Amino acid sequence: MSNSETLFNEAKTLLPGGVSSPVRAIKPYPFYVKSAKGAVLTTVEDTNLVDCCLGYGPLLLGHANSVIKAAISSQLDNGWLYGTPTELEIDLAKRICGDHPSMDMLRFVSTGTEATMAALRLARGFTGKTDIVKVEGGFHGAHDAVLIAAGSGATTHGTPDSAGVLPDFAAHTRQVPYNDPEALEELLSKNDNIAAFIIEPVMGNIGPILPDDGYLKAVREITAAHDVLLIFDEVITGYRLGIGGAQVKFDIRPDLTTLGKIAGGGLPIGVFGGRREILEMISPAGPVYNAGTFNANPATMAAGIAMNKYLHMHEDIYAKLDERTRQIEEAVSSKASGTFVRMGSMFKYFFRSSAPRNYTEAKQCDTDAFRRFWEKALSAGVFLPPSQFETNFLSTAHGESEMTKLVQVYSQC
Ligand code: PMP
Repeated sequence: MSNSETLFNEAKTLLPGGVSSPVRAIKPYPFYVKSAKGAVLTTVEDTNLVDCCLGYGPLLLGHANSVIKAAISSQLDNGWLYGTPTELEIDLAKRICGDHPSMDMLRFVSTGTEATMAALRLARGFTGKTDIVKVEGGFHGAHDAVLIAAGSGATTHGTPDSAGVLPDFAAHTRQVPYNDPEALEELLSKNDNIAAFIIEPVMGNIGPILPDDGYLKAVREITAAHDVLLIFDEVITGYRLGIGGAQVKFDIRPDLTTLGKIAGGGLPIGVFGGRREILEMISPAGPVYNAGTFNANPATMAAGIAMNKYLHMHEDIYAKLDERTRQIEEAVSSKASGTFVRMGSMFKYFFRSSAPRNYTEAKQCDTDAFRRFWEKALSAGVFLPPSQFETNFLSTAHGESEMTKLVQVYSQC
């Protein structure tokens, strides 16, 4: 079999940048994986790597988990796409709504990107207002409304973060810093045309960056006072921080929620859900359009149901995972110059003297030092997401031998 460098050279002639999603373009070339089991990826060179990326979050139970695999396999025997409704989608919808007190109804889509895109359209359709607010550094997928760089202040209009995004459209997206309720209050009090505030309750795409005490409650109160819908983007935190995600953990009821990743057991999924009166605006019940060939596809539904059942039967995994990231934190020397941040099975070592509280602070991290650490970890057989600004994850498949390796790597921070 070809090695990774040869494969990447060929890929570059067929796939832009050689990859199918930009973060995979590790320099000078990415390693190619031929198989994965439990917490371990095996490359085409037969190198085994402890995986703390886990497909960027969905694989809470590790790779090729036997329970999820059995559910997918038995569904495959019955076909994997019908183009008609199935009992499976009722079952999974009941489970997900049951796990999230804020959700009366939901719509299944195929990715987190589609979920936030649809949730924002729904917020505009429901409120009749035009603008949205997001958090600086917050990532909600690769669609026009949310691909907006941090502006130079809370009240500035957004500027596109990608060629091809119309400035006219980007101007309808505004930004506020995370952990800054005053900036949100000021922005909302000066604008009466804001449909929604979308936020990752625990920032995962430059983090984890944790909410200050009381921040999320303040966000709920401020948005409610200004009649602005609150959208919790729990694509990462959903089922990662516990059943019910951040909203149950912090006891907040957003108006709308987006999910993805773990909710589909590792197959492609997106979910947006919330209060009945809002969701009933979605077509064909209402005038806000959403559709998809692969929405609620039976294979994903089967995987999601299996994941959901497993989590309800083994809710103790969350405490166990929390204990494991604590062990990694303890391995970091008290003399280390950076800061270890964790929440449950999300963790990160920031090359900054204190934990970042927002995007501006996250950008102050020493990314060269991160790169050196990342390379050292890889040589020691540990694959961390290849950016200072991506959360690391643990799965239930990370056992003693993987933990020993991780403790070793983090003791050298
Ligand atoms: N929202 C958040 C918080 C995410 O982290 C991501 C992806 N990492 C998305 C939305 C987009 O999800 P997807 O990649 O499934 O489109």
